[in-house]
Amino acid sequence: MKIAVMSAMVEELTPLLKKFENYTCKEYANNKYYFAEYKNFEIILAYSKIGKVNAAITASTLIHKYGAEKLLFSGVAGALNSELKIGDLIAATALAQHDLDITAFGHPFGYVPESKIYADSDKELLKIAQNVANSANIDLKTGIIATGDQFVCDNEKKEWIRNIFKADAVEMEGASVAFVCDSLNIPFFILRAISDGAGAGADFDFDKFLESSSKVSADFIISMLDKM
Ligand code: SAH
Repeated sequence: MKIAVMSAMVEELTPLLKKFENYTCKEYANNKYYFAEYKNFEIILAYSKIGKVNAAITASTLIHKYGAEKLLFSGVAGALNSELKIGDLIAATALAQHDLDITAFGHPFGYVPESKIYADSDKELLKIAQNVANSANIDLKTGIIATGDQFVCDNEKKEWIRNIFKADAVEMEGASVAFVCDSLNIPFFILRAISDGAGAGADFDFDKFLESSSKVSADFIISMLDKM
């Protein structure tokens, strides 16, 4: 089975690559793709660069060009739900695009015709994640993740996204990966460790916690591969 392991930033992917020492690398469409073997799996790793378009390009390439059959995403996010603290893990149950807006025509936020607001995560992968969390005594939170092409570091904006999308965390790639996988019938799992609170001072916290939270997320993804 071929499994894609994807991140947005190099800092998020580095702790994963460290785990797969004997990888090879190919370049395609301004990106590097890393190939490794782990257990009986062929693992294809890549970081997309930040944002929805980059993430969609990379997810599509992982699936169409390199044949990924499942996709696991590892990275960091800002917390919208006050119960989420820095370093906490959240697995997306569903994801939406908070910056998609044709409300001028009477549509709800995040909706365009012939599509839907939320892409739902794969139930089997969520179950595996819950098993990993239970056996390692990790408090894995689950909830809705909102995605948009903005770093959210503003209290008003944060409340707006939370209220409109009932979202628990915000980031810049998850929903775009989710919609690519959903369209192509590829089971996906989006995991984020909290790096900041998405309000005032989020930029400062992000810089401070990017590395440690990336590691928390990467370690969990490795444990999932061990359970799969
Ligand atoms: N410091 C970086 C930019 C980081 S953008 C630079 O200068 O290059 C934030 C990244 O982390 C995105 O990939 C996004 O998915 C995630 N993220 C973490 N906290 C976020 C927040 N509060 N709002 C939006 N995205 C966030």
